[in-house]
Amino acid sequence: MGFSKASWALLNAGCLERISMFKLSKKVQSLPPYLFLEIDKAKRQAAKEGRDIIDLGIGDPDQPTPKFIIEALYKASQDPANHRYALDQGMPVLRRAIQGWYKRRFNVGLDPDTEILPLIGSKEGIAHFPLAFLNPGDISLVPDPCYPPYKGGTILAGGAPYIMPLLESNHFLPDLKKIPLLARKKAKMIFVNYPNNPTNACASDDFYRQLIEFSARNKIIIISDLAYSEMAYDGYKARSLLEFPGAREIVIEFHSLSKTYNMTGWRIGWASGNANLISALAKVKSNIDSGIFSAIQLAAVAAIEGPQDYVKSMCDIYQERRDILVEGLSALGWSAIKPKATFYVWIKTPAKVDSISFSAKLLKEANIVATPGVGFGKYGEGYIRMALTVPKERIKEALVRLKKIS
Ligand SMILES: *Cc1c(COP(=O)(O)O)cnc(C)c1O
Repeated sequence: MGFSKASWALLNAGCLERISMFKLSKKVQSLPPYLFLEIDKAKRQAAKEGRDIIDLGIGDPDQPTPKFIIEALYKASQDPANHRYALDQGMPVLRRAIQGWYKRRFNVGLDPDTEILPLIGSKEGIAHFPLAFLNPGDISLVPDPCYPPYKGGTILAGGAPYIMPLLESNHFLPDLKKIPLLARKKAKMIFVNYPNNPTNACASDDFYRQLIEFSARNKIIIISDLAYSEMAYDGYKARSLLEFPGAREIVIEFHSLSKTYNMTGWRIGWASGNANLISALAKVKSNIDSGIFSAIQLAAVAAIEGPQDYVKSMCDIYQERRDILVEGLSALGWSAIKPKATFYVWIKTPAKVDSISFSAKLLKEANIVATPGVGFGKYGEGYIRMALTVPKERIKEALVRLKKIS
């Protein structure tokens, strides 16, 4: 078994730092292990043994990037002007394309020069943003379970994450009323992510209004991760916080082309929102990177301004897979909710079985990779996550295998 409870515990205990004569910094020592690397190791080991693995582990689209986007990249890459360092703040033509998309999609007007910042994937922006505002002793309010860089970015900036449990009883929304006074005082920022990875929950308008009121009152920056805003089903349309009154002063939103256009490997996304927050992030980044390959920026313009029917057909594919998986699991007596958005199914483990043991069992007995919920934080315990990133035939095969072992 590649990832066992023992190897997980060892990593958590910080065995990494003992294998070298160089002592890791306290910040790096206190980073949680990056779960996906561990699962990947286990998966590769299983594949090496010749086993037929169905990988529902990692959230990476299996469909190719649309052809017209690849062609735009090819064309732009022929131009030597695009081979040089790109401008730190992104090409004006890309910022204007994003401005147009925002207006069409959310009816929100943004200033392309001050309120939009292209990124080398939204992950780097999310992870770098805390560097702009956290001092030692400061807190960021982090949902749990969550996308790992919220905690990692906070810790690398010298801050401390304050955990907000996402519980099914509260629709996987943080309960703002439960955040104690001291944490509110020390908090500089709050992370939210709806549609949510890993729980697939969506935010209500009511929650967004409360969040803005809470954050404005306590002078807390809202960091909203909208990576899945376009991956939705049954007519659901995710909203931008910037549509709500009072948001413009305190919100920075992170968007990604990764999931919307099947471009995870390309590394491109953007931040949009309050101009002071955007310029602070730009200042941090100007010390770290030197912009995005211009040809990729021009391909992103093609993606954003090109035909969007591709996004709809992508959602149709995931929706069909979702129905097969969730209905199949329900027939087996498993507890899983049909997601309105994202390509994740968040599934309860059987009573008294922890998520790592359960994932390990699925890999060992059914050759299925699923992500243990605890990898997203301690409140992910009791769940596993399956991603709808394999063809429907493979999902059907996974269900056949699960029937045999359950
Ligand atoms: C996939 C994902 C992203 C996108 O990251 P990129 O760096 O833009 O590829 C951001 N947030 C969440 C929650 C994700 O799952």
